[in-house]
Amino acid sequence: MEVRLIEKGENKARFLVKDITPAMINSIRRAIIEDVPVLAIETVEFVKNDSAMYDEMIAHRLGLLPITTDLKSYSLPEECTCKGAGCSRCQLKLTLKKKGPCTVYASDLKSSDPACKPAFPEMPITKLMNGQELELTATAILGRGKQHAKWSAGHAYYHNRAKVSVKKQPSKDIADRIVKSCPKKIFVMKNGKLEVDKERVMECTLCEQCINIDDKSLALEPLKNEYMFYVESFGMLPLKEMINEALVQLGLMCKEFKEGIKGI
Ligand SMILES: [Zn+2]
Repeated sequence: MEVRLIEKGENKARFLVKDITPAMINSIRRAIIEDVPVLAIETVEFVKNDSAMYDEMIAHRLGLLPITTDLKSYSLPEECTCKGAGCSRCQLKLTLKKKGPCTVYASDLKSSDPACKPAFPEMPITKLMNGQELELTATAILGRGKQHAKWSAGHAYYHNRAKVSVKKQPSKDIADRIVKSCPKKIFVMKNGKLEVDKERVMECTLCEQCINIDDKSLALEPLKNEYMFYVESFGMLPLKEMINEALVQLGLMCKEFKEGIKGI
């Protein structure tokens, strides 16, 4: 297997992966989306809510706030030593107390653990008019994306790399239309000839816009077992930690399977 980093931003990255089976790359994608445990608010106790929003709506908004997660300090409620009763190892408490007029932001939630707090402080929760008050205590627990999307650590997707070639030169008019049709700009005109840009061709997502214009002059096919893999963290975990944790979770599942077939 060959993995090459193509692009890296603060929270997202793009890899070129060669010699991997569709089943394997899909398992990694699913593990990133569904199996990485992260913190999210699960219960909210309201003391006061004078805002225009119902308690349920505010609770729903709070649930979707990404919370930076310290995986070493917390365990899943079902795996905790308290057996799910609730303790400082499996629960994070956050409190909020605001009086209007103001906009209540994620940063107004005060966390009991400085390592675990809203990842994007400027996210708005609600607005309070003059004299209105909002006071609540929220409890965040670890969970997985397969239980609820709020526990999804990030997003991952991929597509086959494409092989694009010019079989025979089209007329000038059609060549111009092909150049314009590609949203990824992989075609160029060089000395009056239609060519495929060797670097840009990596961006091809097999949208087939070009071949819809003229399928006689172009050849387009997916490269087997060669993928462009995109991954993005929602902010709960740094990108690298999220990918590593997904791979750890995959390993744990294989180990569980191995234990299961011991008796056979
Ligand atoms: Zn516990």
